Parts: sequence; C-alpha cells; structure tokens
Amino acid sequence: NTRFQDVREWDNAHFIHPWEGMPFLGENERTFVEGGEGIYVTTEAGDRLIDGPAGMWCVQVGYGNTEIAEAMAHQAREMAYFSPFNNANSAPARLAHEIAQRTSGDLNQVFFTTGGSTAVDSAVRFIKFRNNIMDRPEKKIVISRQKAYHGSTYLAASLSGKERDKGWLDQATHLTHFLPNVNPCQRAEGQSIEAFLDEKVADLESAILEIGSDKVAAFIAEPILCSGGVIVPPKGYHKRCLEVCHKHDVLYISDEVVTGFGRLGHWFASEDVFDIVPDIITCAKGMTSGYVPMGACIISDRLVADISGDKAKGATFSNGFTYSGHPVSAAAALKNMEIFERDGILEHVREITPVFESRLKALSDLPLVGDARGQGLLGCVDCAVDAKADDLEQDKNIGAMIDAHCQAQGLILRPIINMCVFSPPLIISETQIHDMYDIIDKS
Ligand code: PLP
Repeated sequence: NTRFQDVREWDNAHFIHPWEGMPFLGENERTFVEGGEGIYVTTEAGDRLIDGPAGMWCVQVGYGNTEIAEAMAHQAREMAYFSPFNNANSAPARLAHEIAQRTSGDLNQVFFTTGGSTAVDSAVRFIKFRNNIMDRPEKKIVISRQKAYHGSTYLAASLSGKERDKGWLDQATHLTHFLPNVNPCQRAEGQSIEAFLDEKVADLESAILEIGSDKVAAFIAEPILCSGGVIVPPKGYHKRCLEVCHKHDVLYISDEVVTGFGRLGHWFASEDVFDIVPDIITCAKGMTSGYVPMGACIISDRLVADISGDKAKGATFSNGFTYSGHPVSAAAALKNMEIFERDGILEHVREITPVFESRLKALSDLPLVGDARGQGLLGCVDCAVDAKADDLEQDKNIGAMIDAHCQAQGLILRPIINMCVFSPPLIISETQIHDMYDIIDKS
C-alpha cells in the first residue's frame, strides 16, 4: 500500500516500540491497524481480522463503540483536565464510588493511576509508606513469582519474573524475592496436583520465614499469570497463600490488570472466582476497554485507617500523577461500566465461557500442542517442545509461525516464544468463538 509508505518509514525511523528488538530497529515490518468494529480490526491493506488478544487484553466492549467515544468527547468539551492534586472533578469522584460499590470486603479506597504499571508501583509504594509510618522501615521486601508480569516502571519491572526480560535492564533486586514457577503442567513426574499445590504454598511460607516476616511487606500475584503464559494455579492456591500471608502479617496484592473488568465473567476475579479478599487490587486495561489510558489500585479501608488521622504522624503520601483520575479517562470508564451492566456483558462471558474452554481444551489433541490452557475468556496454546524445559530452551519461532498462519486466515493472536495467547473482546458471540478456534485449529 503506497499510501502507507511514508508512515511506515516514519514509524521505523522514529518510533521505538515497547519491547523493541534492537538488532532489528528500523527494519520491522509491522502491520498497521487503522480501524475496527466489534471483535474485528482492519489493517491498512484492508484486511479484516478477528482481534484474538483484544488489543493487549483490554478492548472488552470491542472496537468502534461510539457511546464511549461520545462520553469522552462530552467530558473533553466540558472539562478536559484540571489538577487532581488540590482540586476535584465529578467524573473521577463518581468513578471511585462506582468501583467501591463493586469490590469485595472493605476495598473502598481508590488511587487512580495512568495504567497497570503505575498501579502496581503505587500499591507497593503505599505499602512501604505505611510501614514507615508504622515504625517498621525494615518491612520492605515484596515476594513475587517466576514468569509473573507486573509492568514496566522500575519497581513493577523489578517484580516481574520473566528471566528473558531481565538480561539488559537493572532491577531493584534488594526489594524483591521470587518464588518458583507455578505451572502445574511443569510439575515433577508423578507428582499429584494436591502435592504440587502443597509445595507451592510451602514455597511462599518458607520464603517468608527465611527472609523474616519483619522484612517481608507483601506478596503480589496475578489471579491467573497472564503474559507468562496464562498459567492457572491449582484450585485453592490463592486462598491458601492469602492465609499464609495473613498468618505472617504480610499483605496480599492481587494484580487484576488483566483479570479485572470482566475477563473471567466478574468485575474482579479475586473474590468471585478465587474466593479471596486481598488487601489491595490493582487494575487497568479493561477499566476503560482500552479506549484511553487509566489504572487504579484499590486499597482496603483498614490499611488506610491504620495510617490516617491521629496515626498519620503528619505524613503525606507523596505519590501521584498529573493524570491521576483524568476526567476523560474517568468518563470512558464510567460509560464502559454502564455498558457492561446494561448489556449484561459479565453474564454473557459466563454463558459463553464453556464453549470457549471446551474448544480450547480440544486443541491439546493436536500433535504440535504440549498444553492448551486457560479460564474464562483467556486462552493459551503452549507448543512446548518439551513441557519441562524453560522458555529459553524452546524453539522461539513456533508462536510467531502460528500467528502468521492465523493472520493469513483472518485472526490475530499474540505470540510469546513457543506460545500463542488470546483473550478476545468480551462481546464475542458463540459463532465467532467457533470461527476463531476453527482458524487456530487449521493453523
Ligand atoms: N500487571 C499485569 C498483570 C499486566 O498484565 C500488565 C500489562 O500487561 C501490567 C501489570 C502493566 O500494565 P500497563 O502496561 O498498563 O502499565
């Protein structure tokens, strides 16, 4: 497409993309996606493709939603932006109220951020701040897990556990500790799921005891470990980990940047799917269906009460962003939530999940597939050359090859080394789920 020759050149010459492969800088042949409607996107070449990953696990209500676009335009015309530091605006105030109505327990304090990384960063900074006020400045270490992904700020990246991302960037290693892989399909030969679960919970407790509970501030976990390969922990894992945390006075951060806002058929997966009420939930992505950036950490009343009023010792929580609670983002999030409720999107996800999951499971029968796993509208095809081997030892091209075959037939997936992950817009119909899997099957 010659019309696109200029922009392609500008993109290659000036735009450093996330996770840019430096050896190929300026030579990438990226597909330009210029339009979309429902679950489909349109490329500059005019090809219409199902968007398997819903952008980056985020376009929950699908593309081309004019109601969200109008809500954003209306807010921009009324009051596009004003400083959230000393002033307030009704859109984020209303949004904080709406979110607090939908969280479990006493998770009622909403701190708005610009995305998922800054939500994780702010959650951890809040915990460290709280421990300083409570005269326990040594209680700073956060326990995370191998293969976890929590973001790309210095602190959130330091809590991410993908070995291949750590090579060339410094990490705040003195503040973190990593637990071994929680993928049940990589458990030892002959080990039962129950024994594997016991082992994984014991890993957490041993780490806390070894480091010392006076030094461990928090444990952070995605309900389903998403970018690391849609790893679903054994049933009861999160509940037992939460019990271990609370037994040792360690806070539990549930990173729901992907699983929040409907991905598993609920506003949040922590309580409704995994039966836990964490101390802090982080969220972003689906909050605005990706129409505009926004994130939040949602903190329990109890945690805030411990360090406010007379107990605050005069402290200010010096953490926040120019765009904390941006009115246009808040207007998009409010409209997104209204659409979820009016159109019964959470119910729809719960209704079609069995179809999604049964087609997913059937992929395991293909000779190339080592494991096909997922939950809700989250799926992963793991073409493990050897299920026990680490990512780095796998054939790096399989995921990209499958994605290329799928794209040729009308479906985008997200390749991650030897895996492909997908998480379609939540409005996907049963017929469209079959269309998607028919293409994956063939590819
Ligand atoms: N946490 C999880 C679980 C994520 O999957 C991501 C992004 O994929 C993040 C945090 C970081 O979010 P963002 O890219 O919006 O900063």
